[in-house]
Amino acid sequence: MSFKKLDILDEKDKRLRMKCHDVIFPLSKERKKLIQQMIDHLTYSQIEDLSIKYDLRPGMGLAAPQLGINENFFVVVHEYEEGKFHNYVIINPKIVSYSEEKICTSTGEGCLSVNRDIEGIVPRYARVTIEGFDEMGNKVKFRGREELSIAFQHEYDHLNGILFFDRIDKDNPFKDKDNMRMI
Ligand code: ZN
Repeated sequence: MSFKKLDILDEKDKRLRMKCHDVIFPLSKERKKLIQQMIDHLTYSQIEDLSIKYDLRPGMGLAAPQLGINENFFVVVHEYEEGKFHNYVIINPKIVSYSEEKICTSTGEGCLSVNRDIEGIVPRYARVTIEGFDEMGNKVKFRGREELSIAFQHEYDHLNGILFFDRIDKDNPFKDKDNMRMI
């Protein structure tokens, strides 16, 4: 299958603010194809040569509403070791538990729908457990820690119409700095 760069909605698009509805199984052929394209896009975007070739901004996650699809699913492609990727496809996800400890990224969070740098603390749980379904409708359960945990929470937020900067304190973007661990 040839590579197709996806059109990703910009932060101003109202479709990013809608709440999504659950996916009904079985998935259509088109949905399965789209999920594969999301995986390819995210993987290529994290491989320098390919990201330059296809002009892709690096990103590790994409949620359906970022493609104008009002459905509860997202994809995370996590580079867990140099050049090694693990794909997470999570449909109708629920965060079932989370740590007390909170973390945030020192460089600020990024989003493929947000084409500008935004500084500030985005408080996230250091570890989460998320349940959902894969493309075939099988139950899946994943534990994420550190950057993977942040990615799960970031993408889960998209399904509820929340963008990462909504979680930054407007008056004092670095307010909670001392209450969490920076990664
Ligand atoms: Zn995002």
